[in-house]
Amino acid sequence: MNNSPRLRIAIQKSGRLSEKSFDLLRGCGLEFDWRRNQLLCACTNFPLDLMLVRDDDIAEFVTDGVCELGIVGFNMLEETLLARGDNQRQEVHILERLGFGTCRLAIAVPEEKHFVDINSLANCSIATSYPASLQYFLNQNHVEAEVIHISGSVEIAPALQIADAICDLVSTGSTLRSNGLREVQTILESQSVLIQTNKKFSPEKNEVISRLEERLKGVIRAAKTKYIMMNAPLEALEEIKSIMPGLEDPSVIPLGSDGKKIAIHAVAREPDFWSTMEKLRAVGASSILVVPIEKIFG
Ligand code: ATP
Ligand code: ZN
Repeated sequence: MNNSPRLRIAIQKSGRLSEKSFDLLRGCGLEFDWRRNQLLCACTNFPLDLMLVRDDDIAEFVTDGVCELGIVGFNMLEETLLARGDNQRQEVHILERLGFGTCRLAIAVPEEKHFVDINSLANCSIATSYPASLQYFLNQNHVEAEVIHISGSVEIAPALQIADAICDLVSTGSTLRSNGLREVQTILESQSVLIQTNKKFSPEKNEVISRLEERLKGVIRAAKTKYIMMNAPLEALEEIKSIMPGLEDPSVIPLGSDGKKIAIHAVAREPDFWSTMEKLRAVGASSILVVPIEKIFG
């Protein structure tokens, strides 16, 4: 292992994605000793170095091949690629959607502003930290509006009369409401993604990437799935299988001597917990246990 080539993964140093990114790597069994303000941090039990940077720089580093991998918001990946030009899409790809950092890039206007549809923004000025994404959206919709690039506190731009509207990231919408703004148009749905550069590497390096990728996928899949156990009448088995979006065929264990009742164990995705449970109950399932899974491997 000491001779393995080392990989670099870019993650956000301090912000909304940092803690979950560290958790994901720790979930893969990686150990590192990071001290604040360190830009590079070596993993002590895997040939990996963490590069701790601003989220704005992550997609650039991975696209350029400075880092092989990165964890970044899809919003920032899109903004970087749009700003750098279309041919950049060949330089990077998404390995996994990570399911955290969920938000949307949306246009908002002052409460009192008249808004019917996107055409109401014609000839308006819109402040944003995502000028390339906003410009792309306006072009796609044939709307002529002025894009004003500001880097922070976008939501106060209308009150300061810097712009007529804003385009910013929204999760709950409470920041918009507290600034007297109304969300009117989503531009992009986002969550954090694991990205990989498309630059070519030695077979040894590719092997290390695959090892890490497999571990990451194991942790991500585990987070999205549950181990489900229940008892049910034998005749309900087929219906239960159709209700549960299982990853594998469930294990079926006969209960009692007449074989009419069974125990079912399965690894299943959890799309909509309560409605799935209600459907299972309705076909006769009982004693339903739903257990979190730490890791899935192989
Ligand atoms: P940095 O100092 O790294 O540049 P930042 O302040 O630009 O940090 P954060 O606010 O930490 O960035 O947001 C990082 C990412 O978190 C966003 O790009 C987005 O993918 C995600 N995110 C999720 N919800 C929100 C939200 N409500 N507002 C902003 N970002 C969000
Ligand atoms: Zn940022």
